[in-house]
Amino acid sequence: MTAFVFSDINYDAHEQVVFASEPRSGLKAIIAIHNTHLGPAMGGCRMWEYVNERAALVDALRLSRGMTYKNAVAGLPIGGGKTVILGNPKTDKTPALFEALGEALERLGGRYVTAEDVGTSPADMAHVARRTSFVAGLGDSGDPSPFTALGCFVGAQAAVRHHLKRDSLEGLIVALQGLGHVGFDYARRLRQAGARLVVADIDQGALERARSELSAEVVPVDSIYDVEADIYAPCALGATLNEDTLGRLRAKIVAGAANNQLATPDIGDKLRQRGILYAPDFVINAGGIIKVCYEYFQKPDSEIEGHVCRIADTLTEVFQRADREQLPTSVVADRVAESRFKA
Ligand code: NAD
Repeated sequence: MTAFVFSDINYDAHEQVVFASEPRSGLKAIIAIHNTHLGPAMGGCRMWEYVNERAALVDALRLSRGMTYKNAVAGLPIGGGKTVILGNPKTDKTPALFEALGEALERLGGRYVTAEDVGTSPADMAHVARRTSFVAGLGDSGDPSPFTALGCFVGAQAAVRHHLKRDSLEGLIVALQGLGHVGFDYARRLRQAGARLVVADIDQGALERARSELSAEVVPVDSIYDVEADIYAPCALGATLNEDTLGRLRAKIVAGAANNQLATPDIGDKLRQRGILYAPDFVINAGGIIKVCYEYFQKPDSEIEGHVCRIADTLTEVFQRADREQLPTSVVADRVAESRFKA
């Protein structure tokens, strides 16, 4: 096989990439530490049945870099990292597997702290914690979703103030995609603030709840982009802002929780050209990592909400600078992050 790590487009001067294996448990994991200038790298542990090892490495590199940017913009004293475990989260999980991961993390001496992510749970992290203390998000109190939802809500308010010159969400229409852990909570807050909800999900139960509890109007999954809305709130999948959806979007603002919303970086500029204000995903959805970070460093719970609400100030700075410099908000957000972690 030809070497590809250092020349891969997703390799961005990562400080350290560890391939951890432990034959007895079957552990095969990649721990990518992108940057620790602001503090120990922190980012979740994903378990996924990748099509091949290269796909797993690319995911680890891409995600760990993303965590550096998210953590820096959120003003947290941590860097960016990520772990991927190669395996099927439905069939391949054992306590020994996660204990072996814990041992691998312990050998890194605290340069990287893990947490749950797609395919892993607080119960898995409890097994990791039997071998290392470099793990966050343990137990029921660790659910970060309500804080992610809060960040999205204050972020939407900031976007409305900036772009629509309104202090209230009363009467605004929000097209919300994905009523999961974050999306439903975000929808509830929007409704309480007087917004009207138009929602789509593949889960009929979630749609019923939204209809009865939040008076939401339901549309088919693929119609959510065409809704005559003020805000489009992607809270399900990545890459929903793409060449296909761009021309269909009627919303004036994009403010949602999903990771990696832009299918390609140039979409950020295309949104700007269409006059759509994009709240960069890694800025607006940082509420969860803020919560996890506070818990890990045992900082007072009472300060978490205040920190999450500062996402609104950060977004306002990004929006204002993007106007001044005639740049996409996505580019400005990257620069804000880089000025912090590269300083
Ligand atoms: P979740 O799995 O609880 O919810 C996702 C929802 O999207 C589900 O209700 C699912 O049925 C729905 N969905 C799936 N495919 C869909 C489709 N094609 N159209 C419409 N709906 C569809 O996930 P979550 O924890 O709520 O996270 C939502 C998004 O936010 C994800 O992209 C996640 O990576 C991101 N995010 C979450 C957090 C967090 O704290 N949970 C933090 C940062 C970012």
